[in-house]
Amino acid sequence: MANTMKELDTLLMQRSLSDPELQAAAESAAEYRILPEATVIKIGGQSVIDRGRAAVYPLVEEIVSARKTHKMLIGTGAGTRARHLYSIAAELNLPAGVLAQLGASVANQNAEMLGQLLAKYGISSGSSAAMSTIALALQEVNAVVFSGMPPYALWTRTSPEGVIPPYRTDAGCFLLAEQFGCKAMIYVKDENGLYTANPKTSKDATFIPKISVDEMKARGLHDSILEFPMLDLLKAARYVREVQVVNGLVPGNLTRALAGEHVGTIITAS
Ligand code: ADP
Ligand code: MG
Repeated sequence: MANTMKELDTLLMQRSLSDPELQAAAESAAEYRILPEATVIKIGGQSVIDRGRAAVYPLVEEIVSARKTHKMLIGTGAGTRARHLYSIAAELNLPAGVLAQLGASVANQNAEMLGQLLAKYGISSGSSAAMSTIALALQEVNAVVFSGMPPYALWTRTSPEGVIPPYRTDAGCFLLAEQFGCKAMIYVKDENGLYTANPKTSKDATFIPKISVDEMKARGLHDSILEFPMLDLLKAARYVREVQVVNGLVPGNLTRALAGEHVGTIITAS
């Protein structure tokens, strides 16, 4: 190890930072997970929170009882209000960075509401994904709510496809799970998981319990239940090598998924 570090030091002084040999040397350090016991949960915006009380209250109950045995980072989606903002802003010809900020404001609203519902149990919401009090909250009350949009804001990478920010709350929640080396990532949405086609519009769609990123792409399902850039993030992940999408409208599903049960669709990196 000492040798490798010396070699890395030399490489870092001499090579470009994307040099393959330098990158391989930087990889050689032992892995370190920052929050290995925690599970990241994304509560869908359009699919869950926008349904209001009927969908949200039972999940609050599940979260409160699950935190006796699980450590949870709970991220929020944005949903219909964000889509409304995107349509107005795009028509006004505003750029992706502005749309990303508008989307983030809606994910913030959802985190704010969820935080208030969980307040009496000592669980509160932080103001951005980069909040510094996550560790303390997890240690003391086993759960914390965060706003799911990644904070790229005006620094959102422009894309030839258009002005809708490509990395939204599915990606934001996943990136947090991966950076912290978390135990698992669960998406709570309004369908049992991935189907061969959108079950809202295709009556003969069939359920897929488990699938890899490559199979999803091969079957033309890359742009379906998760934001499509998510698939490449998952494929490149070092720690979080699979995610599960579950139906949060079915009571008990979240609790079972937290316990490691297979209740929805598992999407694997390889
Ligand atoms: P969120 O609320 O987390 O943003 P979305 O509404 O963006 O969730 O994504 C979930 C939705 O994806 C489902 O409600 C479903 O209508 C849609 N969807 C599209 N294609 C598929 C598919 N092949 N399988 C399952 N759901 C799909
Ligand atoms: Mg979505």
